[in-house]
Amino acid sequence: GSGRTSSVVGWEAVREPRASSTPSTNHKGVCLVADHNFDLVILGAGSGGYAAALRASQLGMSVGLIEKDKVGGTCLHVGCIPTKALLHAAEVADSARHSEMFGVKASLEGIDLPAVNAYRDGIVTSKHKGLQGLIKARGITTIEGEGKLISPTTVQVGEDTVTGKNVVLATGSYPRTLPGLDIGGRVITSEQALQLDYVPKSVIVLGGGVIGVEFASVWRSFGTEVTIVEGLPHLVPAEDESVSKQFERAYRKRGINFSLGVRFQSVTQNDSGVVVTLEDGQTFEAELLLVAVGRGPRTEGMGFEEVGVEMDRGWVLTDERLRTNVPGVFAVGDIVPGVQLAHRGFQHGIFVAEELAGLNPQVINDEYIPKVTYSEPEVASVGLSEAKAVERFGEDGIAVYDYNLAGNGKSHILETAGSIKVIRQVDGPILGVHMIGARVGELIGEAQVAVNWDAYPEDVAPLLHAHPTQNEALGEAFLAIAGKPLHAL
Ligand code: FAD
Repeated sequence: GSGRTSSVVGWEAVREPRASSTPSTNHKGVCLVADHNFDLVILGAGSGGYAAALRASQLGMSVGLIEKDKVGGTCLHVGCIPTKALLHAAEVADSARHSEMFGVKASLEGIDLPAVNAYRDGIVTSKHKGLQGLIKARGITTIEGEGKLISPTTVQVGEDTVTGKNVVLATGSYPRTLPGLDIGGRVITSEQALQLDYVPKSVIVLGGGVIGVEFASVWRSFGTEVTIVEGLPHLVPAEDESVSKQFERAYRKRGINFSLGVRFQSVTQNDSGVVVTLEDGQTFEAELLLVAVGRGPRTEGMGFEEVGVEMDRGWVLTDERLRTNVPGVFAVGDIVPGVQLAHRGFQHGIFVAEELAGLNPQVINDEYIPKVTYSEPEVASVGLSEAKAVERFGEDGIAVYDYNLAGNGKSHILETAGSIKVIRQVDGPILGVHMIGARVGELIGEAQVAVNWDAYPEDVAPLLHAHPTQNEALGEAFLAIAGKPLHAL
């Protein structure tokens, strides 16, 4: 290492693993023998589990990583990566559809979904191979099979017992449904939605959160009639209200229908479609119903309660250092109550490994985790919403600047509408950044650095932004809230 990285334990510390029984492995590096002892045993190889494994091995620990399905978990196989590939294909379709706007003569002949799926699966397969290679190269032992915690230091996998000085629970989440709403047939979750080999003519999406609106976006771009049913008053209800309202305008303009503030009551299905009834008696018909009402913890039958791990309705409770109440047992990722995002899982995993290595890592604050919704338009935010900031600091304690992307050259070139809102504490740091518009997800990096560094607008306002970029809009918002707007009044 060099410079700043040389002060922390980095690549220099990579050592051969110290598993006390040297396990024999098959040609894939998969473990075959019965008893193993490791410094760290990790149950589940999704974002949280594999990140813990990679960092722990880097720090010299021997690691046993137990996975019943595929390393990479939800995010790689049925979450982040495949959905973003579909969203990119959707963007290409929209570019063809709107090409005339830019003077280009092209037309959208149709969507070959099997070919879209092949493109998507190629990405997933390649990333999966890369991850398997990395895990192997770091000397991590992968143990295939379903694990069950049988003591604070032991996981049973089939006939094998795997023992660790410490154990990390990282079993992730599953698509939840509502009481009385059974998944099957034409009533599907995101997992079945990714398996479809045709573009449905019409879909009802139950849930206007991130997963629901992303699928709605893909399908609309592919030509589907989409209706979103959201029981809360807004789409993307976890976002700043002003962003939600702009999002709703954009979706309306795209011809995506939605019903807000009325809850789902029931669904019936037959050979040709589904009929959804809301609590106010309204009904909607479509070919499919996608249930996207959130994800629950995947912890049932895994022995956690029996070993004495404190839980709440299936969630594993931890303190801020991700320790469960059972000494030596940690939990990371989606099973820990909070925002369910892959990068939170990564950071949890890194945290636990560094904690065990005695590096005293910084506690992860859920409030400052960047969030991106990859629909068209995109939504990206970090930190406090305006409502939250007012709640905490009072109306007079904060200042808000909302920069309209209409003033940004590159956004105009892309013909996208939207805005970037910056919230600061009066005479204090930037508390939140909330963005909407095409491609704004790529701007979250600078926003999250500013918020997580407790930067003052005055600190970041002098930093340059290349022209013409959408990134300049964030620069303009920082300039404006620091009291010196350039291209605005
Ligand atoms: P998981 O990834 O669920 O991994 C848990 C692993 O544990 C799985 O591989 C499972 O097979 C294994 N396992 C479970 N029980 C056992 C057992 N008993 N024995 C052995 N193995 C077991 N997040 C983002 O940040 N960005 C996105 O764009 C994004 N898009 C998403 C889109 C969709 C459709 C979905 C569903 C999710 C998306 N997410 C996204 C969320 C993200 O996928 C999760 O936050 C992340 O995968 C959580 O990681 P995890 O390690 O906690 O759990």
